[in-house]
Amino acid sequence: MATPDSKPPPAYVTVSALDGGHLTLPERLFVTDADPDKRSTVPSLAFLIQHPPTNLNLVFDLGVKRDLNGYTAAQRAHIAQRQPVLVSPDVAASLRTGNPPLDPARDVDLVILSHVHWDHVGTPSDFSTATFAVGSGTLDLLKNGGGPLYPSELFNDDELPAQRTVEFPPVPSGGVEYDTEEHETRVPEPTPAAPAALSSLTSKLPAAASWAWHPIDGFPFPHALDFFGDGSLYVIDTPGHLYGHVNLLARLGDRSYVYLGGDCCHDPRILAGDKDIAIYPDGKGGVRSVHVDTAMARRTLDRLADFIHDAAKEGEVDIEVVVAHDGVWKEQNRHRFWPGTL
Ligand SMILES: [Zn+2]
Repeated sequence: MATPDSKPPPAYVTVSALDGGHLTLPERLFVTDADPDKRSTVPSLAFLIQHPPTNLNLVFDLGVKRDLNGYTAAQRAHIAQRQPVLVSPDVAASLRTGNPPLDPARDVDLVILSHVHWDHVGTPSDFSTATFAVGSGTLDLLKNGGGPLYPSELFNDDELPAQRTVEFPPVPSGGVEYDTEEHETRVPEPTPAAPAALSSLTSKLPAAASWAWHPIDGFPFPHALDFFGDGSLYVIDTPGHLYGHVNLLARLGDRSYVYLGGDCCHDPRILAGDKDIAIYPDGKGGVRSVHVDTAMARRTLDRLADFIHDAAKEGEVDIEVVVAHDGVWKEQNRHRFWPGTL
């Protein structure tokens, strides 16, 4: 029997992959039981997300900068260890290759960065009318760094346009705190948005005025933010890799979702349980991983693995997970790059 239902019909987004350049990762820094000499040149994937109800175009992550001189000297020294780095095509060029071509300066309304490592920040100046949304603490991290292993020299203070950038609200800790003693980190503080940035955001997306972190019904994420306010795209708090790290859960259809995992892991074999996060000397007498807090990164991965497992077991929803540096996914999914869709 039909029941009266005053809820609006469900909304969906379309997602297209974008090329964001390539970098080369030594396997031993990323996965356990690695071949000590193996290096893989992997993509830094970005994604175009289109939201038909508002006609807004959003880009998730911006890959590698087209001009490596745009990085600081310390970043360039780090990048020298990630060669070969391929800068073309970058995200702007990838958007322009579509039919219709998208102009990054005019046609992209919003940019979300999963986090602000060099291989995800891309060239923000290409997106000269977009509003940027980043995880809480990101602007402080860009300015002041995050302790000895994440010094400010590894970030660009002026990476993001202050008048067009907002941070997502701070995530309630729920008793889960970064282990600052063991990792000698400095946890960056939230930065309130400039009034101009807030008004540029809410004029495009009124729903942003009520952004808040909540669990999502039926999903194992305690902190999700309903980006468009209609359940079509959730920002998922995914702590551990870097301060402010977020993922996206995009609803493509009634039972069909894609989860954009950023750097929650760099190799899908970790998510599958075949490998673990590599631990290696930090050069200061201790050990580290590629994550700012390895235990927290592992908890985030465990939650994601549960999510995939539960979805597969119950068969109620189809979930595809794509992490930023998955070269195999890229090769198998060329047809899903813009103007193709996932
Ligand atoms: Zn990263």
